Amino acid sequence: MLPTPGTMRCLSLPSGWGFPLDRQCTFGLLLASQLLFLLYYTFGGIRSMALQLWHGPQPAWDYSKTQDVYTNLSLIQLLVPGTHHLAYCPQKPPYLVGPLAIAFNRTPSLDEIRDRNRLVMPGGFYMPPNCQARHRTAVIVPHRNREPHLRHFLYYIHPFLQRQQLQYGLYIIHQAGNETFNRAKLLNVGVKEAMKDEDWDCLYLHDVDLIPENDHNIYTCDRSHPKHVSIAMNKFGYQLQLAGMTISRPPLSVGRYKMIKHNSDRGNEQNPRRFDLLLRTRRSWTQDGMNSLVYTTLAHQRHPLFTNVTVDIGPAPRRPGTPLPKTHKGSLVSLRAAGV
Ligand code: UDP
Ligand code: MN
Repeated sequence: MLPTPGTMRCLSLPSGWGFPLDRQCTFGLLLASQLLFLLYYTFGGIRSMALQLWHGPQPAWDYSKTQDVYTNLSLIQLLVPGTHHLAYCPQKPPYLVGPLAIAFNRTPSLDEIRDRNRLVMPGGFYMPPNCQARHRTAVIVPHRNREPHLRHFLYYIHPFLQRQQLQYGLYIIHQAGNETFNRAKLLNVGVKEAMKDEDWDCLYLHDVDLIPENDHNIYTCDRSHPKHVSIAMNKFGYQLQLAGMTISRPPLSVGRYKMIKHNSDRGNEQNPRRFDLLLRTRRSWTQDGMNSLVYTTLAHQRHPLFTNVTVDIGPAPRRPGTPLPKTHKGSLVSLRAAGV
């Protein structure tokens, strides 16, 4: 059968080859689609594929060669804070070093961390001294009874963020009392409290025991637009996905974290109903969460290296007619679904 005029020919074979042409065509299309599929997954989705094509390949990081996390910080600290109108910081921060040396064998003191981060202002706020930041990021950390982890976190996160030339604020949301730890609710509290301080462009919901290993993992939500509002998260994301918001993730090679090893905490055991709760969230997320958030602020303090918000979030969530779960491990989704 001759191909009709206007039909797509896969190969530049003379027309009239009939069936063999169709077979080659199908084979070619199959091969091409497989290749595309492979490319798609290799580059981690359309967005990063476009980024790769736009910015060229990302450097392959060698994590056996690491730099001290305070590298280049003295260069920034020597700069005199500007008083006149400042130009925007460069698109690409000049102080980044790549893979960082991270160790947890010695817990640094708060005094030492303060000493090494002289430009951090009370409340854990920072602005680059000699240029106007392109991004304003709040880092929100749920916390209870993890003081050594918090010190490691502060030690590593402050120089990391300063080298990225961000305007940033660090919020530690501390759950008072011995009720079941509710990470999701604390994060919601953090978002609410942080937005009272500043119109942040970007909110990072962060675990206290995760330390970023590469400072090219920039803590912004959108690299090119200074005022774009979106939210990046490291672990949770269901509600935002459901709401049609963007969740940005760095390329895998750069988005590496070191986790501080720990045993499970009292009051934060695994919830046997967690899968059921996740399913129910699909229906309940619009009514549950930020708009039904109730808590009592017990303290709001500007510590030298962070803002501490201590909250009473009330008893662990319970649905009417169901017995109180003995244990409950929270996540942004499951606790909202549970009617927090
Ligand atoms: N967390 C805390 N105290 C607790 C339990 C959890 O501060 O008793 C916070 C802390 O920021 C931690 C995060 O919640 O990094 C996640 O909890 P966990 O580390 O237990 O989760 P997993 O290690 O299982 O991811
Ligand atoms: Mn952990």
